[in-house]
Amino acid sequence: MKESGTLLPHLQPASQSFARELAASYRLTFQELRRVAEAARDLEMWCEDTLETWWRGAEEQVSVGGRERKKALLRLLDEHLQELSAAAKSYPAEGFAQPPRRQVQLVERETSKEVFGLCAAYSERTVCCGLKTIDAVRGCPFGCSYCTIQTFYGEKAELESDLVDKLAGLELDPGRSYHIGTGQSSDSLVWGNRGGLLDALLDFAARHPNVLLELKTKSDNVRDLCSRDLPDNVICSWSLNTETVIRNEEHGTASLERRLRAAREVADKGLRVAFHFHPMVFYQDWRRDYGAIAERLLARFEPHEVGFVSMGSVTLIRPVVQEIRRRGGETKILQMELTPDPHGKLTYPEQIKVDLFSHIYGSLRPWHREVFFYLCMETDRIWRQVFGRSYVTNEDFELDFLRRCPPRPLSAQPVAEPVSARI
Ligand code: SF4
Repeated sequence: MKESGTLLPHLQPASQSFARELAASYRLTFQELRRVAEAARDLEMWCEDTLETWWRGAEEQVSVGGRERKKALLRLLDEHLQELSAAAKSYPAEGFAQPPRRQVQLVERETSKEVFGLCAAYSERTVCCGLKTIDAVRGCPFGCSYCTIQTFYGEKAELESDLVDKLAGLELDPGRSYHIGTGQSSDSLVWGNRGGLLDALLDFAARHPNVLLELKTKSDNVRDLCSRDLPDNVICSWSLNTETVIRNEEHGTASLERRLRAAREVADKGLRVAFHFHPMVFYQDWRRDYGAIAERLLARFEPHEVGFVSMGSVTLIRPVVQEIRRRGGETKILQMELTPDPHGKLTYPEQIKVDLFSHIYGSLRPWHREVFFYLCMETDRIWRQVFGRSYVTNEDFELDFLRRCPPRPLSAQPVAEPVSARI
């Protein structure tokens, strides 16, 4: 039986030999072996009973013989996986074993790649903010189980050695505003000012007052940032998650408390901060845990210090799903009903997303008037269910974003004349 093209070679030794035993005794076809190996891999990664334990139990329940027996067992196996995926998963109280820390080296390299572009996930089929990106570094040292960056860049991170020249060569329209993020191909702050990275970005922001430059991070590495003069068109954003998700799925990143303390430090420097709840994960205590983060934010930040709050869910492209299974390790990130979105990416069913987003939005009610809230990569239907509003076009979204969170902080704008004085 051909095993390449299945996950069998990646399984733990005991599961491998059991899957081979099944292949021989039940005369599994190639497709059936693929199904069985994938199920074995999921059960291993989710730390559920192994395929062998489950199969032995199922064999006792199935009374039919011959070819029908194999079909019945495979059907039961599919149902078992579906049940585990549909329920809110629970993480072990002691947390999963931490994988070895990734040794990602930052190397400076001159490349022919463009540093400026449009968010790679932008789509006309979802309600999108039209974020522009600067890919100053490609690659990340963190080990988030759901992350696409590891799949693309692996164990190296590349810093554009001619970043200063590339940024100087960008032609931006001075007559319009831009929201530009630097955290789409790496973490914006984890590298500090290695290779002059921060200096180049801050200088770019200072030269382009019509740009809102977003530095997005899961680290607490704000020392280099806070020791510099900061143009007020820079905004520093933290991707937030519950301690449970951070401990089990965001390996190597700063704890929630460390992220919040770093955000406080940056806000104390007078820079605007922002928060991304992305990806929100559906698990047993999600309601309590995400609500608790909202309480901590309300207690520690004033709404005028916060530029925006975004929410998004687990959304995976198929190659990333394959890569997560190939990589293995203890993770429950794929233990979900993988439901296709408008692009065929795999995400939660709509109602789960509406519940997750509405919970955070409702929990941050005291900020609704002053802070801009949005959803990342979601459909018009979901927007309407969460906020009761949406945008006709993505350009409308982009304009509204920059109106609510302009490059120059609203408090720094000249106070508008009262309308009656202009009549
Ligand atoms: S909404 Fe999200 S996916 Fe769409 S452009 Fe903005 S950041 Fe990218």
